[in-house]
Amino acid sequence: MFNKEDYKILRENMVEVQLKTRGIKDEKLLEVMGQIPRHLFVSEQQRSCAYEDFPLPIGEGQTISQPYMVALMTELLRLKEHEKVLEIGTGSGYQTAVLSKTAKEVYTVEKIESLALKAEEMFKELGYQNIKVKVGDGSEGWSEYAPYNGIIVTAGSPKIPEPLIKQLSENGRIVIPIGGPFSQDLILGEKIKGELITKTICGCTFVPLIGKHGWDK
Ligand code: SAM
Repeated sequence: MFNKEDYKILRENMVEVQLKTRGIKDEKLLEVMGQIPRHLFVSEQQRSCAYEDFPLPIGEGQTISQPYMVALMTELLRLKEHEKVLEIGTGSGYQTAVLSKTAKEVYTVEKIESLALKAEEMFKELGYQNIKVKVGDGSEGWSEYAPYNGIIVTAGSPKIPEPLIKQLSENGRIVIPIGGPFSQDLILGEKIKGELITKTICGCTFVPLIGKHGWDK
């Protein structure tokens, strides 16, 4: 059984070995990931592995992403402190927690109610007050609070859902895995003069985005 101090050391080690050496440079992001207690976003049985270099199961057939993937996707969004971000696929809520410390307002949509409720409880327990959670099909976005300066999709989709492009502000950035159900390319899109300009960052593997503008099942 690890104590608080052990987790702190594991977390610092994760930042040094998995993030800095792979090229994550955003100082604020490195600081935030060095502080957020990732082990509290996984089950007790998984806690000793919470800072390891791989994704972990979180129940309902879903996963918490590898720490490096969380860092990479967040860095690509280039969020500023006054900006608003939409996340699709709350999952454990860990990525949401990272966003809440790097942007002003975070809106997150999760399709599986039990995961959304669990994550919401953790946000309350940890005192995060700038996060709004919705249960629903995130492939449709969350039009009520649009436009967003950043949109992050943490599930793989066959294409960029049209509603998400609409809900992105001018100069807004979107990060999304696009491809087949078992492997995808991580795509960064930027809306410039109303048009989405995209580039491929790297290969990745995410669970499928299931919804009207994603996969059927
Ligand atoms: N970011 C999460 C974390 O830090 O734990 C990991 C997310 S997990 C890889 C992908 C999540 O997307 C799952 O919880 C899944 O239920 C959710 N998901 C899949 N399709 C969705 C949809 N259409 N709308 C909202 N959430 C969806």
